[in-house]
Formats: sequence, C-alpha cells, structure tokens
Amino acid sequence: MVDVSIPQLVDWLSRFRDLVTENRAYLTELDSAIGDADHGSNMARGMGAVMDKLGAATPATADELFKTVGMTLVSSVGGASGPLYGTFFLRFGTTAGAVSQLDAAALSAALHAGLGGVLARGKAEAGDKTMFDAMNPAIEALDAAIAGGADVAAATSAAAQAAAAGRDATEPLVARKGRASYLGDRSAGHLDPGATSTAYLFTALAAATA
Ligand code: ADP
Ligand code: MG
Repeated sequence: MVDVSIPQLVDWLSRFRDLVTENRAYLTELDSAIGDADHGSNMARGMGAVMDKLGAATPATADELFKTVGMTLVSSVGGASGPLYGTFFLRFGTTAGAVSQLDAAALSAALHAGLGGVLARGKAEAGDKTMFDAMNPAIEALDAAIAGGADVAAATSAAAQAAAAGRDATEPLVARKGRASYLGDRSAGHLDPGATSTAYLFTALAAATA
C-alpha cells in the first residue's frame, strides 16, 4: 500500500488554503445567509497564516506539522471555525505521531481523532447542520473503501465524494449548533458554510493523494 508522505500532507494543506481562498466570497455569502458573514475570511486568513508558517520552516514529522497547523488556526481565527479546525488538526497530528508517512490505516486513525476533537469542542450530532455533517460521512466512506481493499487514492476520492454529498444534505436542515441555530427554522434552505469548507478539505486531500 502506498503511503502518504509529509510533502503530500503539506500539499493537502496548500490545496485547502487555495480552495478556501478562491472560494472566500462564496463561503462568506453562505455565512451571510445563516451566520455573520465571516467564514470565508476566517478560513482564508487562517490557512494563509498556516502556509506562511510552513513556508518559513516545514516540520519533518506529522505530529510537529499538524501541531503547527492547529495552533496557528486557533490563534489566527476568532470564529468558531478556528478552534474547531484547529482542534481537528491538533488531534490529527497527535494520533499520526512522530512519523514521516501515513499508510491508509494511519490516515484513517488520524482523521477519526480529528473528528473526535471537533466533537469534543462543538458537541455536534449528525443533522445539526455543521461541518460534522460533511466530515463524518467522509471518514465513513474512507473506512468503507479501505475495508473493501481500496488504496489511499481511491479511499480519499470516495471520502471527497461523501463530504460533498454531506455538504449538499445540510441545505434543508435546521441548524442546532453555532450562530446559525439562532435563526431556528429560517436556517433551512441554505448550505452550511462549515460543511462547505470541510468538503474542500476532503477535495484537497483527494487531490494531494491522487
Ligand atoms: P462563527 O460561527 O463564529 O462566525 P465561522 O463562520 O467561521 O464561525 O464558522 C461557522 C461554521 O462553524 C458553521 O457553518 C458550522 O459548520 C461550524 N460550527 C459552528 N458551531 C459548531 C459546532 N458546535 N460543532 C461543529 N461545527 C460548528
Ligand atoms: Mg461566521
């Protein structure tokens, strides 16, 4: 089985930065409908700061790499998404450990740990109209693909497709977590901004591991 290297993990982060930057206005438009119109700027600023940090010095192991990523996001993004994505990456790195490559099982374990961090911080459940609704099905699809014998590239591709489907499924939902929950029923009929950025996270992972 082909492993995912540190350069590929950095490429994942770089592609995620590119996607949230290219789609900054769109993410902000989604957040203006059911939030406070800052998700695009939060994510673009946060991932821009991450790539600036990594450009200055790229750590050689996954634990150090994702510790830098998580701490930079927590410190540079004020909104809910900073601590949530920050905790995702911090736990991803802790579970990945002091390694220079991840096989499919290690990637899955690290993603599960990241998801656990989002849950520990945000307490979201399925159907609450949050980033969890894209992240959880993506990791389930990754696991199912790996169990079926898929390699990393096929598994991350399945994860990206499931994240996009999860994002799309947030549209009719009524938000039960975060700012959008203040709108009650009026939050229905809009995609969740965080589920949309999480779909980019998995699109970026699939591209970096293709
Ligand atoms: P803020 O809501 O502070 O303005 P952002 O606009 O950057 O922060 O991020 C909003 C996104 O954060 C939401 O679309 C949702 O996906 C996610 N989110 C908010 N609260 C939670 C939570 N408790 N658990 C998981 N995700 C959440
Ligand atoms: Mg917001």
